Parts: sequence; structure tokens; C-alpha cells
Amino acid sequence: MSIYKYNPENIFAKILRDEAPSIRVYEDDETLSFMDIMPRADGHCLVIPKSPCRNLLDASDAQLVAVMLTVRKMSRAVMKAFDAQGVTVQQFNEAVGGQEVFHFHVHILPRHEGVALRAPGIMADREVLNAQADRIRFALT
Ligand code: AMP
Repeated sequence: MSIYKYNPENIFAKILRDEAPSIRVYEDDETLSFMDIMPRADGHCLVIPKSPCRNLLDASDAQLVAVMLTVRKMSRAVMKAFDAQGVTVQQFNEAVGGQEVFHFHVHILPRHEGVALRAPGIMADREVLNAQADRIRFALT
């Protein structure tokens, strides 16, 4: 039994249940990837396990393997979609570690030479995110 509490009312759990909107770019049986609504780079997306998990600290081996395989797939796809030279992969644990949504998630940020990450907390235009999602979906094919 995990000592870490999982609250099924967190926003990513609602996205998984289709109770909250999201722009999905990829999914398989174990994982989902969707656009971050406050992107710090063009093409910033998130990967989450479909099963309940608060963060890295309570993740099972199976959840970690499934998430990281999707992180690799999405990293390759966003680099291709945005002609990026690299990718930053971020993951935060507990409030003091920078975690704000308490469903395990990994950030994927395409990077370009000389382009800094944008400041956090700035909501993106939904049409812009939809167009970026299309590019990522195409890169996955
Ligand atoms: P953190 O827990 O610090 O990794 O941050 C949570 C991330 O989730 C931030 O980058 C937010 O922009 C993002 N986020 C929060 N709510 C949503 C949502 N409804 N859809 C997509 N991304 C979200």
C-alpha cells in the first residue's frame, strides 16, 4: 500500500475520464500524451500513465516503463514536428519539488539553439495548440 495519496479529482484524472477537455496527441493502453495548456515551448506536451499514480515516488515499474517508452516516442515526434535540435524532459515530485498537478506526468519540450523556455503560467491560444497537435500527430505517423 502506497503512503502517497492519489486524489481522483485531479485535473489529469478528469482528462483521462473525458470530464475535462484536452488536446490529445497520442495514446496507447497504458499512457496518454496531450498538449500542455501553458506551454513553455512550441510543441510542449505531457505524458501520463492512464492508471492512478501521484508521481515518480509511487510509480510502479510497469508505469515507469510504459511512461518512459511514450516519452521517447513523443520526444522523437516533437523534434521531427518542430525541426528541433534537442528536447528537454522535465518531471516534478511533490509541491516542494515543483509539482502542481498530482497525477504523475512528464513534460516534453522541443528545444532550438538560442531559444529560451518561456515563463510558466501563460495560457496558450487553443487554435495554436490544435495546429501544433496536428504537426505532432503527423510526425507520429
Ligand atoms: P507541474 O505539476 O509543475 O509539472 O505542472 C503541471 C503542468 O500541467 C503545467 O505545465 C500546466 O501548464 C499543465 N496543465 C495544468 N492543467 C492542464 C490542463 N487542463 N491541460 C493541459 N495541461 C495542463
